[in-house]
Order: sequence, then C-alpha cells, then structure tokens
Amino acid sequence: MKKYITTPIYYTNGAPHIGHAYTTILADVFKKFEQMKGNDVFFSTGTDEHGQKNQHTCEAAGLPIDVFLEKQSGLFQAVFDRMGIDYDYFVRTSGEPHKEVVRSILTDLYDRGMIIKKSYEGLYCEGCEQFKKESDLDENGLCPDHKKAPKLILEENYFFRLEPYREWLREYIQLHPDWIKPQNYAKEVLKMLEEPLDDLCISRPKSRVWLGIELPFDKDFVTYIWFDALINYISTLKFGSNPDFNSYWANSYHLLAKDILKPHCIYWPIMLKAIGIEPVGKCIVHGYWIGEGGVKMSKSLGNVVDPNEVIDMMGVEPLRFYLINAMSISSDSPISISLLKQGYKQLANALGNLQMRVIKMVDKNLQGEIPSDVSLLAEDMEVLESVSKSFADVYKKDIDLETAIELSDCIMQACNKLNMYFANNEPWGLVKDETKMERFKQVVYTTLDALRLIATAIYPLMPNVAHSILKSLSADNEKLTAEFNPKALGVGKVIVPDPLFPYLG
Ligand SMILES: [Zn+2]
Repeated sequence: MKKYITTPIYYTNGAPHIGHAYTTILADVFKKFEQMKGNDVFFSTGTDEHGQKNQHTCEAAGLPIDVFLEKQSGLFQAVFDRMGIDYDYFVRTSGEPHKEVVRSILTDLYDRGMIIKKSYEGLYCEGCEQFKKESDLDENGLCPDHKKAPKLILEENYFFRLEPYREWLREYIQLHPDWIKPQNYAKEVLKMLEEPLDDLCISRPKSRVWLGIELPFDKDFVTYIWFDALINYISTLKFGSNPDFNSYWANSYHLLAKDILKPHCIYWPIMLKAIGIEPVGKCIVHGYWIGEGGVKMSKSLGNVVDPNEVIDMMGVEPLRFYLINAMSISSDSPISISLLKQGYKQLANALGNLQMRVIKMVDKNLQGEIPSDVSLLAEDMEVLESVSKSFADVYKKDIDLETAIELSDCIMQACNKLNMYFANNEPWGLVKDETKMERFKQVVYTTLDALRLIATAIYPLMPNVAHSILKSLSADNEKLTAEFNPKALGVGKVIVPDPLFPYLG
C-alpha cells in the first residue's frame, strides 16, 4: 500500500529547534514503521521560504534573498541529515515546481469566483503575519504569542471564503472521529467551527511584502503564507501530473504541532474541498516540549535544549528514543539535558548491558556459538511469546502518536521482562555446574532470541542500534520486516560488540 507522510514546512527565519527535530523524527519513525510492514512510503519535509518574517530576517542579515534562503534551508537539511532522517523529498517553497501548482490553484479558484477582493481594516500582528480579532488578544491588548500590540492596518486584499464550507467540515469531523488525533484536538476544532468563519485573507500587497508568489491575476500582490505553504502538501506529490497522486493521498498523514491546528484542520480541508480533493487521511497533532518542571524553554533561563548539542553529547538515537517515549498524548512534555541523560542510562542498563553480558557469556563458554537444537522450557517460551505478541500487536496499528509511544513503551517493557528472566535464572551460576549446561544453553538462547525480537521492533526508533544488536547475533538483514516469530534465531557465532551506550560521565 502507498502511504504519504508529511511534516510541516519550517520557517527559514530561525534555526531548527527541538520542536522541529521532534516532528521530523516522528515522521521518520512512522516511515520506517510502515516500511517494515511492507508499505511504500513517501515522506516529505521542507522549508517555508516566503512571507514577511523571512523577508525581515533576510534584510537584517543583509544577504541577497536566494543566498539567505539557501543558507537557512541548509541549516534544516543539515540537522535532519545528522538525525538520520530518511526523507524522500525536501520541499522549498521558493522552488518553481511548487510555485507552479500554487499559481494554477489560485487561477482556478479565482476564475470560479471563490476568491474576492475587498478592503479590510484590522489589527495585524507582524509576528503572526495575521490579522487578529479583539478576542484573540490578551488583557493588555497584546498578541498572546508575541507580547506585542498589533498595528491597525487598512488595505485591500484578496480573500477566500471559508464560511460556505463550515457545516460540511463539522459533519466531516463528526463522521471521521479518527481524522484528527489525539481526539482532544478534534474537539478543539469542532469548537472553533461553532462560530461563523471569517473570510481568509490570502494576499499581501507587494508594497509591504515582496517575498512570495505573485498572484497570477494581480501583479501588485503576493500570496499570503498559508495559501502558499499548505499547498506544498499536494505540490510535493505533483498534483495535476502524477498518476499515483490519488493512491498516496488516500493514505496520507499530516504531522503538526498544536499551534498550527487551525490552518491544517480548518483552512486546508476547506481549500482542498474547493479544489475538489478529499481531506488528508489523518492529522496527527502534538504538544510542545517544555523545560523540566513545566518551565517554558528560553534563552534567558538557559534551559533551551539544542538538538545539535544533544547529538554531540550522546548521539542521535538516544535522542530519538527519548523524544518518542517522553511525549505525552494531550499535554506539553518536559525535556532537559538531565532528563535525556536519565533516559540514556535506562537504555544502557536495560538493553546495552544485557546485550554485552549475554554475548560475553556465549563467547567465553560456548566458543561464541549460538546454542542450536535447544528445547526450551515453558517459562522460556512464555518470555519469547509474550514479547513477540506485544510487538506484533503494536505493529498492527495505524500510525498515530499513541502508536509511537506504545511502541517505545513496549520495548522498555520487553527489556525489563528479559532482564528479570535473565537475573532469575542466574546463567552465571548454571555455567559453573556441568550438569546444568543444558539449562544454561536454554537461558542463553532465550535471551539472545528475545534480543533479536527487541532489536527488530526498535528499528524505527533506533535504526543503528537495531542493526548493531542484530549484527552481534549474526542475524542482521539489511531489510527488516515486522515479523516477530519466536525461536527463529538461527545458528551462528556471536560477535562481541562495542558498547551500545558508552558511559556518558
Ligand atoms: Zn503574534
């Protein structure tokens, strides 16, 4: 089956932070998860290179626009490459293929009378690049996100009418309870849809904003950011010219942080409806990362977690695991260097140490040979069967925030169960008694085979760790599949590995 997974395209006016890292890692985890199930996945990410904020940052940097955009977009690509992100397409909205699709959609909607020109007076927040209603502002009349007073602006602009589609969208969400996940965000969107929807301003006069796609029907204006950015999701799939468009779109997933819920779950489905396309398959929404103890991350508090620094310190895979495992479903989630170190230690204790201990035992006492022809006891089979069943069950699920968290939880539970089994059976004692050698082999085989299952299941989260464990068991296959058959570890020799999680200090 074809599947399509997207991250939002990121604003190039700043450097990539942990939030960008999270959404993109989540998409990469989902891609690998789906590939293991045999699906053909197309994963896109990219940068949003238009709008006033990019324009201002570029002007402040004093660079030619194309040099600035290339440099900023490169920052994101570099971090994603370091994080092992296996994206299939990196969209840049300043690229011609994207602009082409935006222009053709604008022309179509304009010709059909769905885009109108009118003058508008309103309070405009430059930070948000949006007109604000009084009710959007805080008690001091400031934008709650930017803590700045919006400016009163009167200008002519082009608008796209949302209200005619409001009832349709409400019904759609009610009929598709899994369309927006987790479900608390669906409730939030339904709440927004209780009130009439204002026309969506889709243009900016060039006198104020020049960095954008010129409206095909009025050269004095550029397209406003959302009408440009959201269309990336279909321009990337080459809408209009790709014969496979429908089969990818039918199983498509948008990943997004909660601050862009409204554009993705109200503007975008309505735009698509007007264009004649079904809404995306599923919107997977997540909260923010905040400092330890619920404190917002800020430079002045010195608690900002920079993905590059974390990778320098512990490598990328423990960061990937932490981010997936520590995200909570419907609230913000804490991150700090000390929490990351705790997570690292847990992985080292539960997985790295066990792998090292059992492999060294086999190396020393069995000349490295993985025991073959062992008949396992019921308690051994219970460990293998319960571990394999828990993985098989998770891998049956559709991708979702819940599924990602459950996968990481399942892996930790399997590690804990296996450690308990290993400790209870005391193989280090068995090996000293000639009469207990058979039992020693059973325990060692069970542990190695369970490690193989864990390594397979962990692949989407920690691909290099997965391959290293499998290699140490002489069981590495380039392409891993979501098959969790117990007692399938074949004959071969173990290879004493380098530590998976070296001491951090
Ligand atoms: Zn604002």
